[in-house]
Amino acid sequence: MPFTLSIDEAPPRSGLVWRNGFADLGPAFFTELQPTPLPAPYAIATSADAGRWLGVSPEWLASGTALQVFSGNAALAGMRPLASVYSGHQFGVWAGQLGDGRAILLGETEGGIEVQLKGAGRTPYSRGGDGRAVLRSSIREFLCSEAMHALGVPTTRALSLTGSPAPVYREEAETAAVVTRLAPSFIRFGHFEHFATQGRQAELRQLADYVIDRYYPDCRGTDATAHLGGNAYAALLQAVSERTAALLAQWQAVGFCHGVMNTDNMSILGLTIDYGPFQFLDAFVPGHICNHSDHQGRYAFNRQPNVAYWNLFCLGQALMPLIGDTAHAQAALESYKAVFPARFIARMREKLGLLQPGAGDGDAALIDGLLQLLAQGGVDWTIFWRRLSQARAGGDYEAVGDLFLDRTGWNRWLLSFQERNALEDQALAADLMLKTNPKFVLRNHLGEEAIRAATRGDFTVLHTLQALLERPCEEHASQDAHWADFPPDWASTIEISCSS
Ligand code: AMP
Ligand code: MG
Repeated sequence: MPFTLSIDEAPPRSGLVWRNGFADLGPAFFTELQPTPLPAPYAIATSADAGRWLGVSPEWLASGTALQVFSGNAALAGMRPLASVYSGHQFGVWAGQLGDGRAILLGETEGGIEVQLKGAGRTPYSRGGDGRAVLRSSIREFLCSEAMHALGVPTTRALSLTGSPAPVYREEAETAAVVTRLAPSFIRFGHFEHFATQGRQAELRQLADYVIDRYYPDCRGTDATAHLGGNAYAALLQAVSERTAALLAQWQAVGFCHGVMNTDNMSILGLTIDYGPFQFLDAFVPGHICNHSDHQGRYAFNRQPNVAYWNLFCLGQALMPLIGDTAHAQAALESYKAVFPARFIARMREKLGLLQPGAGDGDAALIDGLLQLLAQGGVDWTIFWRRLSQARAGGDYEAVGDLFLDRTGWNRWLLSFQERNALEDQALAADLMLKTNPKFVLRNHLGEEAIRAATRGDFTVLHTLQALLERPCEEHASQDAHWADFPPDWASTIEISCSS
């Protein structure tokens, strides 16, 4: 489009070489277009770690060229910017065509990393939206993407956060921002649903073949397909089911509530994608609903594992024309039901520092009993696990007991835990717990503090949080204790909705 420059870079150069695999799929899958430039862009934050992964230097990340690219004001030679088309089920209802309404894929590097701008202007899929993202929600997405990565949870990454004084109107006037996101692919379940519902089998097959060739090559092997009638597409469904199961086990273990698990927000690679009204649990309330727009509680914390299965079922239905045999699709989906509980228990055993194989199903009962106690007491999820880890490392079990109003149940559980503990190497167990149970997570009120300061032009809170969340399991300095504390009373008044 007229204002966007395609620039040959002056030093420092990004050194990036583009290969644009998705763009080679052809026009049925996207519309090629340029981002809409943003006026007076300013750099707010970058992730040096995401930059290392992409293969660019901190000098380039801080350069004027990078700022122009991250705000949609320039494209690098070799990029092929596009917006992709997808459909999806939203809140359990078929929503028809959606698509990248405000995300623009700039290109894919030779190293296989796609670079995408979120909030870079209107596209043919904007459906009346303005194609922009506000600063408030972009801060949350930037911080949480990198926080999740540091917690070891599969996620799209955030390379940079760029602001602009351009006004964006939501409930009130706000200002614009762009998050530059990275992932090996941004393909969603909804991309498959799009072509399946339109009966476009050739495109459906082309997309599935692309995903298998690029990301799931094992699905063509006999090992993966033997029990699925040799069908690579059923093997793909199984592989995605397993990755999604592993992802959900991680969400549930770290207390992450996504908030909008629509099929268009489900990554074909099993990544956490589209950070909107997400929340890390404060008190452990299993039925917690983090999205203020989710009146039915469809995406309540404890429903997430079932919703993921429901979403996989939609993917299975979309792949049916390629799989052919219902029994094979069902067998592929069935893997979720085995992998999720197994992965969840494995994660919880790590959190408890249980390295040795337990006797019988004793560990499952131990975990179950603990979850019931935590729910009964509405105990703070993150603080409980961190204090338990510290107690195990030679600290004080009193500090853990203090979290429970009713001590009887806790004391009884602690006795059985300590009995089970006796099987373990204490130093190894404590080390595992301290590395598994973070001290710092992006609680809603912390995000809110960063947002309030940023709205005043002060980005120091954001930068402090970024540094802590990059190493969430380390102790950090004593003056950082504030960021690991219980939520203040006002935290419960924060309302996060789909507005972003
Ligand atoms: P989400 O609930 O954020 O996943 O968004 C659902 C759909 O709406 C996606 O196709 C988005 O691209 C699109 N969308 C959300 N916000 C905007 C916006 N401000 N402008 C254009 N499209 C949007
Ligand atoms: Mg989305």
